[in-house]
Amino acid sequence: MRAIQLTAPGTLELRSVPVPELGPDDLLLRVGAAGICHSDSFVLGLPFPISEQPLTLGHEIAGTIEAVGSAVAGRGVGERGIVYLCWSCGECRECARGNENVCLAAGRTAMPPCPGLGPDGGMAEYVRIPMRSFVPIADELDFAHAAPLADAALTPMHAIRGAMDQLWPGATAVAIGIGGLGHVAVQLLKTLTEATVIAVDVDADKLALATECGADIVLKADENTAAALLDLTGGRGAQAVFDFVGSDSTATLAVHTVAPNGAYRMVGLAGGVPGIDSGPAGGPGLPWGATVRKSYGGTRADLVDVVALAAAGKVRATVEQFDLVDARTAFDRLDTGAIRGRAVLIP
Ligand code: NAD
Ligand code: ZN
Repeated sequence: MRAIQLTAPGTLELRSVPVPELGPDDLLLRVGAAGICHSDSFVLGLPFPISEQPLTLGHEIAGTIEAVGSAVAGRGVGERGIVYLCWSCGECRECARGNENVCLAAGRTAMPPCPGLGPDGGMAEYVRIPMRSFVPIADELDFAHAAPLADAALTPMHAIRGAMDQLWPGATAVAIGIGGLGHVAVQLLKTLTEATVIAVDVDADKLALATECGADIVLKADENTAAALLDLTGGRGAQAVFDFVGSDSTATLAVHTVAPNGAYRMVGLAGGVPGIDSGPAGGPGLPWGATVRKSYGGTRADLVDVVALAAAGKVRATVEQFDLVDARTAFDRLDTGAIRGRAVLIP
């Protein structure tokens, strides 16, 4: 089969590789679509190899069951679905409580095996997945629009759910970075809350996309954004700030604009330092009571729920489709900020 593999730092290759073999509890999925996340671009840009073998990328996967392992019951060939990206143990205390995204088996990194970032992923014609990671989708949902649900919807869903106590009617929620994750986050905030949603991005077209997704107010990110956000919230700040960039400047913006008791959620992985100190609150720093959470992925329940929202037409990723062979072009477009919504590869 054909697969897009990371073969050396910065090197993507279209390679011909064997179709994966199944263990007893595995499914073989014929890939219908695989989304490209900014995290893939991050991994591609790392200066060191992340695996000894060539690695098939892709953690946003939708497809059809082609074969089932010998011990699989209750799943059959021909079923359509998407892949839950936390391949957690399913047995530990966190998994038992539904917190599969921080599975104890993953140790302190709390990042369970993820397809395309350890095991081979979905930028290929076929992918091997554990049976438990399969989440069925409705026939009406095409693969290209389903694939981004696996991360671009799952991850904002989890971050938003963890801040719901602040998202009361009339509260203000800010989404910084209206890319793959951010444009879905705006839709989720509009669907799940009665908060005023403010979208922030450096790019005018991303702000236009935010408006299409239902944002009430859009702001171009520049040196005046913090002041503008404080003005819009009567000087108090926003009850929830979701940072889908995570650079120094967006982390600082989040600290300077979150309200007392508000929720600052770090999702973007750009390594930014928010500059939080333990001094008395006051001035531009983190206000009293505000919470900071680094939010990773989501739970299986979050995924089931975003699939339901998509089936109900409440959430729909904007996608740009590419043939598998054009993966490099798609990555390059993502890196230059040219993708509107999510880039999706079709094998
Ligand atoms: P993307 O490239 O699709 O979108 C990024 C957006 O941020 C773009 O619209 C860009 O214009 C905007 N942007 C860039 N700099 C900005 C700035 N200074 N101010 C405002 N906007 C700015 O990326 P994505 O796939 O949506 O991923 C977003 C981030 O989330 C990445 O860092 C990715 O690695 C990370 N991520 C984290 C998790 C998690 O579990 N925590 C999961 C998936 C992705
Ligand atoms: Zn991702």
